[in-house]
Amino acid sequence: MKKPSKITNTPTPDWQGVTTSQDMPIPGEMRAWVLGDPEQLALTTKPVPAPGKAEALVRIDAVAICATDLEILKYGTPALIEGGAPFNKSFTPGHEYMGTIAALGPGVDEFAIGDRVTVEIHAGCGQCKRCRMGMYTSCHNYGLNYGDHDKGHRANGFTTNGGFAEYAINNINTMIKVPDTMTDEEATLVVTAGTSMYGLTELGGLVAGESVVIIGPGPIGLLAVAVAKALGASPVVLVGTRENRNAIGLKLGADHTIDARNEDVVARVMELTGKGADYVVDCAGTETTVNQAVHMTNRGGRICLAAFPKQAVSFDLGALAVNNIYLYGIRGEGRSATHRAMAFMADKRFDARLVHTHTFPMDDLPTALRYARDRVDDAIKVVVSMRNISDSAKSTAK
Ligand SMILES: [Zn+2]
Ligand SMILES: [Zn+2]
Repeated sequence: MKKPSKITNTPTPDWQGVTTSQDMPIPGEMRAWVLGDPEQLALTTKPVPAPGKAEALVRIDAVAICATDLEILKYGTPALIEGGAPFNKSFTPGHEYMGTIAALGPGVDEFAIGDRVTVEIHAGCGQCKRCRMGMYTSCHNYGLNYGDHDKGHRANGFTTNGGFAEYAINNINTMIKVPDTMTDEEATLVVTAGTSMYGLTELGGLVAGESVVIIGPGPIGLLAVAVAKALGASPVVLVGTRENRNAIGLKLGADHTIDARNEDVVARVMELTGKGADYVVDCAGTETTVNQAVHMTNRGGRICLAAFPKQAVSFDLGALAVNNIYLYGIRGEGRSATHRAMAFMADKRFDARLVHTHTFPMDDLPTALRYARDRVDDAIKVVVSMRNISDSAKSTAK
């Protein structure tokens, strides 16, 4: 690759001091999906944004679809644009993406043009109490990045534009280099594994030898199984209602699976663990599963709530109190947990590709979203690729 040069390829002052390279020419405009009314996405063109200080421009190569994207499209939350709902604000969603660095903001030398990177979502504001603790997913200035309220908060696909586009801006703290041996599709899964990692280590303080139960074999639950096993948890138990997903859980490192349709889940956990689980991660978030979590956790144990129930859930608070059980909420992937998830994945400690089921080209985003929402063809993780679809490891054109 030729030495990058400081060139301003567009006449706007935003590009002053930005480093670009002739090897990766940047067009003035890019294709981007934008959210209109609820569940209305349109493919339009937007100017390619210029990276500022401590930022880089990433050419998106692949982006995975998350259940939270489906939430945002339908309800707006947890996205927050200019203090309100993200509808009709030229907002581009999509947050689980990876790509290639195409331009560097002024003073950025941590990365080079041409580096393959995957991203975490939240840069936080960097100045509030929680950001200073490394809990930048719990930033107190969430969404404050506009007008007189500009605290510099970024959460791409939530409070700033995301990855359903050809390019996106990322803070240097939110990028992780991708090894050459890792495919684009696998790299999009690093942030999901990072969220699972944060739930297990930062929140739960998991140490080797502790028993872990994961309820709900969606992408976060399945990768929580993999990360828990890699961290030395024992035994790792997965509870699910779909046989094919429990089978993937076994391949990712679960020691046991429980079929929630046909077995007494709490009794089976007691049988497997003796006094109950040290740590339970509930990735389903229903009244049934929250109560199962309370009743299967041993005295002094911990529970992480990794799903966001839309309605109030009633549960056995008394059992929680009298048994000294700790309850954690989780908001994304803080404290650089995504970097540690990448360390495991680069080292092939587990095969995250097992949760990736489908790939579609970017123009087919609406189809990709439908597959993810309706679980068409047993879809688990659906990825949108910017490259020729035939390059992809898996596709619907099986
Ligand atoms: Zn997500
Ligand atoms: Zn903050």
